[in-house]
Amino acid sequence: MKISVAGTGYVGLVTGVCLAEYGHTVTCVDIDERKVALMESGISPIYEPGLEELMNKNMERLHFTTDYGRAYEDADVIFIGVGTPEKQDGSANLTYVYGVAEEIAASIKKDCVVVVKSTVPIGTNDKIEEVIKSNLQHDVNVYVASNPEFLSQGSAVKDTLNTSRIVIGVEEEFAGSVLQEVYKDFNAPIVVTNRKSAEMIKYASNDFLALKISFINEIANLCEIIGADIEDVAHGMGFDKRIGDKFLNAGIGYGGSCFPKDTKALHWLANFHDYELKTVKAAIDVNENQKLKLIKKSRKYYESLKGLNIAVLGLTFKPGTDDLREAPTLVNIPLMVEDGANVRAWDPVGIENFKKLHPKSVTYCASIEETLQNADICFIFTEWDEVKAFDLNKYSELMKHPIVIDGRNCYQLSDVKKAKIVYDSIGRETIQ
Ligand code: NAD
Repeated sequence: MKISVAGTGYVGLVTGVCLAEYGHTVTCVDIDERKVALMESGISPIYEPGLEELMNKNMERLHFTTDYGRAYEDADVIFIGVGTPEKQDGSANLTYVYGVAEEIAASIKKDCVVVVKSTVPIGTNDKIEEVIKSNLQHDVNVYVASNPEFLSQGSAVKDTLNTSRIVIGVEEEFAGSVLQEVYKDFNAPIVVTNRKSAEMIKYASNDFLALKISFINEIANLCEIIGADIEDVAHGMGFDKRIGDKFLNAGIGYGGSCFPKDTKALHWLANFHDYELKTVKAAIDVNENQKLKLIKKSRKYYESLKGLNIAVLGLTFKPGTDDLREAPTLVNIPLMVEDGANVRAWDPVGIENFKKLHPKSVTYCASIEETLQNADICFIFTEWDEVKAFDLNKYSELMKHPIVIDGRNCYQLSDVKKAKIVYDSIGRETIQ
């Protein structure tokens, strides 16, 4: 079977590499020449644990190109894994997906199954089929299947090789049987539905997780007010199998390329059909407020941030990724700079991307120690292992005023109590 993948981002490249790991020959297509050149020389253009190693291990079965015509013309299966970012009104921007659909239509010279991995609003697979069929240049059959992706950035390779489920949405048996063959060596339950249900499974899953995060964050906010401890509360809740112990970590809200846009896109779609998704709207609203929580907390210690030396630990939206999309730092750091603060920041892999957006207004540091030097306050935005393992005594040794505001509850309060710092975290007692 000849497989091509359109898009070599977090989903496309990981999919291509994992399919190669399971023995398929895969051509990965991207419009970005720089990315293609990097991949051809064995370098992954994105940071994802284990990806570059697995890519190099399977180089014999992997090809990288910008020439979509040659990649698609004789492919048996073409995966679409391009971005579906948020438009200003909250709906999904489908320009890239339809762009690939047109390129497929212009290129294919034999029957082929087009598999939509990108997260697309319910009904989009039908439209992709229409776009392809109405632009075909050769007399061939095309079958469109929905196959949403559930990987998480930071563990994308592991998630794909050990996926919890493979969802296949098809309108006819043939596409389903081809996909079953593609995935035959993946050890995962396969859920076969129609296309709209498959599209909905993806949105409903992401929006449910976003709601779970916003829910625990609201409970954490209330814990702070009434003197309960969110870590204990979440621990106690997690034993109930109906609730589960995952995604109960309170913090400064979700970010990344999926939850923010997928909540807004489904809410937009529901509105479009005159239905108000109240729970999803609540998840979105809570998250917007939660993102600003650290700066709000800082007002307890300083009226203004003007002239303060601020240490920022972590720039990315979560550990394990260099992705900054919708990271809380993108909103918070400009606010600190506007207030007149001197911001110094550290992140193990996110600095290069952040520097592109803010080349001059932030001082980037090579270590946590360097970042904390002489700081008046420290904000923790990402729970990197390096932060969690950092010696708490060093905060008071290095900072001018050891005030640590932790948006990710990186430390046990019992450990914090032994260090001479002011420590303010989410949903827990403040240690003075
Ligand atoms: P991304 O932005 O990292 O990558 C998209 C890639 O597509 C880019 O490299 C871009 O250059 C390329 N591209 C654009 N037009 C192209 C074309 N015509 N032909 C070939 N390549 C083209 O995106 P991503 O994060 O991998 O997300 C892709 C899709 O998967 C989105 O719909 C997203 O919602 C969904 N998804 C993402 C994740 C995640 O964690 N990132 C998880 C599940 C699902």
